[in-house]
Amino acid sequence: ASPSPTVIVIGAGMSGISAAKTLHEAGIHDILILEATPKIGGRLKKTQFSGLTVELGANWLYGGGTVANPLLDMATKLKLRTSLNDFENITSNTYKQEGGLYPSKLVEAINKVATARNDFCSKLSERLSSKKKDVDVSILAAHRIYKQEPKTPLEMVIDYYYNDYQDAEPPKVTSLKHTYPRNEIVDHGDDAYFVADPRGFEILSQYLAKQFLSSLTSDPRLKLNKVVREIIYSSHGVTVKTEDGSTYNSRYVIVSVSLGVLQSGLIDFKPTLPLWKRIAISDFSMTIYTKIFLKFSYAFWPTGPGTEFFLYTHARRGYYPLWQHLENEYPGSNILFVTVTADESRRIEQLPDETIEAEIMEILKKLFGENVPKAESILVPRWGMDKFYKGSYSNWPDGYSQNRKDQLADPVGPVYFTGEHTNDKYIGYATGAYLAGIDTANDLIECIKNKSCRGFNRNRWH
Ligand code: FAD
Repeated sequence: ASPSPTVIVIGAGMSGISAAKTLHEAGIHDILILEATPKIGGRLKKTQFSGLTVELGANWLYGGGTVANPLLDMATKLKLRTSLNDFENITSNTYKQEGGLYPSKLVEAINKVATARNDFCSKLSERLSSKKKDVDVSILAAHRIYKQEPKTPLEMVIDYYYNDYQDAEPPKVTSLKHTYPRNEIVDHGDDAYFVADPRGFEILSQYLAKQFLSSLTSDPRLKLNKVVREIIYSSHGVTVKTEDGSTYNSRYVIVSVSLGVLQSGLIDFKPTLPLWKRIAISDFSMTIYTKIFLKFSYAFWPTGPGTEFFLYTHARRGYYPLWQHLENEYPGSNILFVTVTADESRRIEQLPDETIEAEIMEILKKLFGENVPKAESILVPRWGMDKFYKGSYSNWPDGYSQNRKDQLADPVGPVYFTGEHTNDKYIGYATGAYLAGIDTANDLIECIKNKSCRGFNRNRWH
């Protein structure tokens, strides 16, 4: 039998790969990565749609700010094909529920209120952060304090664009203090680079992995199609069991699966994780963000400069609100995609594709006329139903304290945790996942090399 590795890393998404690479660079080479699916990258996931590569998961990288975005730097190095998205004209491209554009002056006025409200949110958040006590409110509460709660369909769709479109949850549930000001944008910048490359966003995780693995298919330190179902841990070490009946032993384990997977109970921890840890996991939010792609025989929507995005208003907040065409990235592709989130994602995930397509066609007919052609194909990712993700990314809910958030990342005995949800500054983002992997690995390196093991502190793990 091969000797047991020092560390098993569960999951080969951005955080797991980044953790493994950090361990490797610190001289800890006896590692084993167990990944449930046939490939690395996790939520960095491309697919082929009508002969083109589209991203089912992460799509944007942010840049242009005061802090370098390590993933954007990597993307530049790899000459990843991206296009800079232009959201400037959204106020000229906002459609009414029954069709027809709103006058841009009206949308601009509402947009002005929304941006002033965003500024207020940032200031209120900073004020709350300066207080010693962990006082927080929801973003919606902040809107009410500002006396500008979005109520009309038009106000709601603009609010959706600024909040739900990022957080994938409504302002009613999202923490103000831990969301505003938006770190990803403040630090990395608001230049939104949309990845449209045949190699996919996932090339970034492959690039990192190749720096310490000889091959992504045959290096014995990476095992694909290994679904972890059980982690048995004690002060002596860890035993990991997979669905196919294999057993692996190690001294430590890093769990990088999504928050949704942790919440779902797919992995059985023995003994059960302590209550503080289970509360930290259960009380945080795992959201759903769905990009529905549609291919048509021709582009019947406006194309050309300033048309990339359009908004659809509806009395039901979040009903197919945000649309993008791919003519800038792939001219002549005739592909549109619409983004839905949270409860709307949960609703449509239960529906057959034909029903979703019928709902979408009803809207497109209102906007562009009865004669619009039928879609040639439709692609509906179902992140919420996928047992290896159970959602898209995490979101900080109102009422969830910093202390609890720290516990989400805390190790339990020899069991360490990483993933975008354990990062503080850029939670939800691929950059957050990358940095989380480095942080968790460094925490564990401190334990292995200097015997300073947080997981065993104060016997908290019993
Ligand atoms: P994951 O990528 O989930 O990695 C965990 C790995 O664990 C996966 O490979 C999974 O298969 C594996 N796994 C799960 N269960 C098991 C098991 N039982 N045994 C073994 N392995 C297991 N970020 C951005 O920066 N910009 C964006 O524009 C953006 N948009 C997004 C849109 C969508 C629709 C989604 C889904 C995500 C988006 N994100 C975006 C978020 C970004 O993709 C994630 O934050 C990041 O990829 C998470 O990496 P991770 O390593 O934490 O988790």
